[in-house]
Amino acid sequence: MRDIIERMKHHDIKRHLPNIIPAGIVLVVLGGFIIYGFFRISSLTEQAEILTRELASTTAALSRNTNELSGNLAELRVQTIGISNTLSSTQQNVESVKTQVGGVEQTVGTITGTVNTLQKLSQTDPEMLKKYSKVFFLNENYVPAHLTDIPQAYTYSNTRSERFMTEAEPHLQALFDSAKSAGINLYVKSAYRSFAEQQTLKSEYTIVYGAGTSNSFSADQGYSEHQLGTTLDFITSGLGGNLDGFDGTQAYQWLLANAHRFGFELSYPKGNAYYTYEPWHWRFVGVKLATYLHDNKLNFYDMDQRDIDTYLANTFD
Ligand SMILES: [Zn+2]
Repeated sequence: MRDIIERMKHHDIKRHLPNIIPAGIVLVVLGGFIIYGFFRISSLTEQAEILTRELASTTAALSRNTNELSGNLAELRVQTIGISNTLSSTQQNVESVKTQVGGVEQTVGTITGTVNTLQKLSQTDPEMLKKYSKVFFLNENYVPAHLTDIPQAYTYSNTRSERFMTEAEPHLQALFDSAKSAGINLYVKSAYRSFAEQQTLKSEYTIVYGAGTSNSFSADQGYSEHQLGTTLDFITSGLGGNLDGFDGTQAYQWLLANAHRFGFELSYPKGNAYYTYEPWHWRFVGVKLATYLHDNKLNFYDMDQRDIDTYLANTFD
């Protein structure tokens, strides 16, 4: 048996050796390839697995990011709407604040106006715009708070100075300036008269004309108005110092058309129901009231005292 094997070994090996060697090499090479392939495949599989995991994790991350982004976007939208609402509500508030401020300004303006009016009223003599009649006289002790001399250039008498209420004097000055520039000769015949002076004048008239006549042009209402310090008897050149005939002069026509612009009204116009017609006798009542009377062709004594009093605060404007 051992011989057989030995023989076979020698015999087979010698006989098959040329075939066995290349086959072995092929086997070894194949085995190598197989082993290499196995490792390669296993490595590739591993890599693929890694890639797959990475891809999965990247996808998951991307998905998370996408979700997060869309969440953020939605939140931004909500915030934008919120901001837009806030903005519009802010604008509304601004408008409302503006309205309130406007209201406050108006209120302050009204209060200021009221305070000014009250202040002016407190400084204005309530007698200024009173209607005087045969039954309602100015108190005999009444004297205007401030009196000033009318410039000599505007008084008719060279010997006697005429006085006028200080607060109204600038208006008289403006009237004279305007008349002068219009070529009108205008002078003051008589202005402020105290109670005593008027009494003296009245008694003189009484002596000259008799009681009945003197009462008709020198007493009562006209007298009271002169005691106020805001009333004037005007005269012009060419009348020889007389008041009679004044209504036929250019000066009178000029006064009718312009005196209101300086605050003067004609207390006793032609045909009035209260007193003798006195075209020379003008009273300062303030520009506002004088203009109202002129524009509406009204007489001071025809107005209701309550309506007249609404102009008191504006007397010296
Ligand atoms: Zn007079």
